[in-house]
Amino acid sequence: MALDAVVEEVKSRQRVWEKEIDGMRAKKFSTMCVHGAYTKHEAIANNQGAIIEPVYTSTSQAFKDSDCLEAALAYKIPAWVYSRIANPTIGYLELMLSMLEAYGTGTKASTCCTSSGMAAIKAAAEPFLSDEKPGKKNIVSMAQVYGGTFQLFSERFAKERGVEVRWVEEPGNLDEWASKIDSDTRFVYGEIPSNPGICLFDIEGVARLAHAAGAPLISDSTLSTPALCRPLEHGSDIVVHSLTKSMTWNGRAVGGALVSRKNIVSGAISDEAKRDFAGYVKLWPLRDGGACISPDNAARTMDCLRVLKGTMDLLSQNAQRVAEFLEGHAGVERVNYPGLASHPQHETAKKYMKLVDSGENRYGHLLSFEVKGGHAQARKVLDNLELVFCATDLGRIKSVAVIPTISTHQQQGEEGRKKAKISSSLIRLCVGAEDADDLIDELKRALEA
Ligand code: PLP
Repeated sequence: MALDAVVEEVKSRQRVWEKEIDGMRAKKFSTMCVHGAYTKHEAIANNQGAIIEPVYTSTSQAFKDSDCLEAALAYKIPAWVYSRIANPTIGYLELMLSMLEAYGTGTKASTCCTSSGMAAIKAAAEPFLSDEKPGKKNIVSMAQVYGGTFQLFSERFAKERGVEVRWVEEPGNLDEWASKIDSDTRFVYGEIPSNPGICLFDIEGVARLAHAAGAPLISDSTLSTPALCRPLEHGSDIVVHSLTKSMTWNGRAVGGALVSRKNIVSGAISDEAKRDFAGYVKLWPLRDGGACISPDNAARTMDCLRVLKGTMDLLSQNAQRVAEFLEGHAGVERVNYPGLASHPQHETAKKYMKLVDSGENRYGHLLSFEVKGGHAQARKVLDNLELVFCATDLGRIKSVAVIPTISTHQQQGEEGRKKAKISSSLIRLCVGAEDADDLIDELKRALEA
């Protein structure tokens, strides 16, 4: 078959599928979580009728003939070729995430999954730092970002590559963002909410400031998941996720995702890359960098996503009860939870964190609290927990807790921790789906032991 005929045949099949996917986009969020892009036709025509997305562990794809091979390798037809570049199971997850993040925007998004959340953040950031655009470069980020992101920006980008990193210390203050963003800003970065400080930022306001300077806004909404917040809806250009967390709440996979709207704002990358940033990253830099997710992990994430809305609802309600209990306990100095009226950014959280298709506020399942009595007492409380596992982990169906200064944020240094307001008596607690009464009993016992 001639090359053009191969391209046309595959594209016409693709058009049928895209129409079905468009039909799915008109459905409600939970329906998309259950079905994603894996339509009845896709199951029967391409997957032997398997009712759940099969896990394609085959490393590579065989082609009918050399024309098909050539068209696929020239990216002229959708093909998966080799699992580092693409894979059907990973493709189903990417399409599902694109639908979920664009839900309610009336527009389309695209997704590139990665081997971890950090790989997604690196893949999202690096294209903007290219030296192809000459001149000075800075990035503007809230200081309270996850420790790994702080390290990536301050060590890898600032120290090793000379990129100026401008930290925003009060992310709720738009004037501070405005004073740091300028025409040399390559991207603006925030977490909604941040781990472990549980700070938020005004996505709409910061997106406006970034766009006025010609820079994209990248939002990490790992802790919200698309069930509680979809930053594209509020003007963010790119969303990054650690799929390792609440999106794969069973704790059985490491993965990441970079989701972008079409036609993002940037003065530092090509028009092609701006048109479909996630697609560009997937086909070029990520292919060359090799940080792909595994098909097994993609399938495990999809299994958890089926019930994302109900899971985030339950976990958030449990966390709210635990946070209220802790706030009223004499042994606790301070509780950070966006669902508490005492949280300095409670109003911002109310605006951005809502259970999808319900309009009710839900604030996720991560909280942190400072115990009275300093670091030694924090260690005692942590050591007295039994149901709650002590682990540098979050986003689980099981409760987990950790002291950030001796674990996740150990390498951030005293100064970095001070910027992010992380004290040595802070315990980070991610509330699971255990009965909230049992968790409260356990915390009471640990605090009073
Ligand atoms: N973003 C946030 C908010 C996180 O909490 C984490 C990890 O805890 C990451 C990104 C990095 O994700 P991963 O561990 O999958 O690389």
